[in-house]
Amino acid sequence: MKIYIDGQYYDEQNAKISVFDHGLLYGDGIFEGIRAYNSRVFRLKEHIDRLFASAKAILLTIPMTHAEMMAAVVDTCRENGVKDGYIRLLVTRGIGTLGLNPRTCKRPSVVVIAGKIQLYPEEYYQNGLDIITVPTVRNLHSALNPAIKSLNYLNNILAKIEANNGGCEEAVMLNSEGFVAECTGDNLFILKGRQLLTPPLSAGALYGITRGVVMDLARESGLSVAEPNLTRYDLFNADECFLTGTGAELIPVVKIDGRVIGEGKPGPVTRDLVAQYRALTNRTGEPIYG
Ligand code: PMP
Repeated sequence: MKIYIDGQYYDEQNAKISVFDHGLLYGDGIFEGIRAYNSRVFRLKEHIDRLFASAKAILLTIPMTHAEMMAAVVDTCRENGVKDGYIRLLVTRGIGTLGLNPRTCKRPSVVVIAGKIQLYPEEYYQNGLDIITVPTVRNLHSALNPAIKSLNYLNNILAKIEANNGGCEEAVMLNSEGFVAECTGDNLFILKGRQLLTPPLSAGALYGITRGVVMDLARESGLSVAEPNLTRYDLFNADECFLTGTGAELIPVVKIDGRVIGEGKPGPVTRDLVAQYRALTNRTGEPIYG
């Protein structure tokens, strides 16, 4: 595998970042997870836009333009012969001193890794996930806004550990008011009748790119789509539930905190949206090979 670091490609064993990089010392940096399907990078522009938006929020000046960043992602895929894959793009604050002041970091580092990912075993896509709410509350947007896709994922990691300790693969994270925010690496949707509902971004959700795509597909299918605050009660009494994310794609949920959702198996609307999403990912995106 060839890894892009600051404009050059390195073999895996030589792809290294300094221990003085504040991305490592403090989680000071941002990232994106992107997928390629059928030799195209899916929703590349949206991912790069979100990367620049995260950078702006943490006052980090990316040393490249949008176009250069898009080209770096596509070139790294081409360099690695990627047709279907998962791309990790990160921008760290760069090398500084041991103090946390980012002013000591002279130049951000840009890394692109084009590899593979399988977030959940295939059986969960067929049968659905059993998930639980966990004690760790989603970061306050007035503290570290969950809209920023930062390299500091401890909030999510703690929730993931709590889910695992409870025998589950994924956690529902609530915000400090007790409303549903999202899962540790995915947005959450429920279906109630012909209404598709997902928490508003103000509840502490990431501006999920898959979330946006699914909302568009649902509207085109004649569903009404809304973003109200949701409580656990709303989840328990949903007809269907699923999660969305670039890595996880669309994954059905059949149990939440011991309550069976709908019929206890992936519902027809979820299955239909999965099929539509697959079709869309297969035919759209930034071509890797011209
Ligand atoms: N929420 C969180 C916390 C995430 O990290 C992600 C990305 N893995 C998502 C939601 C889903 O976002 P996207 O659809 O843009 O991948």
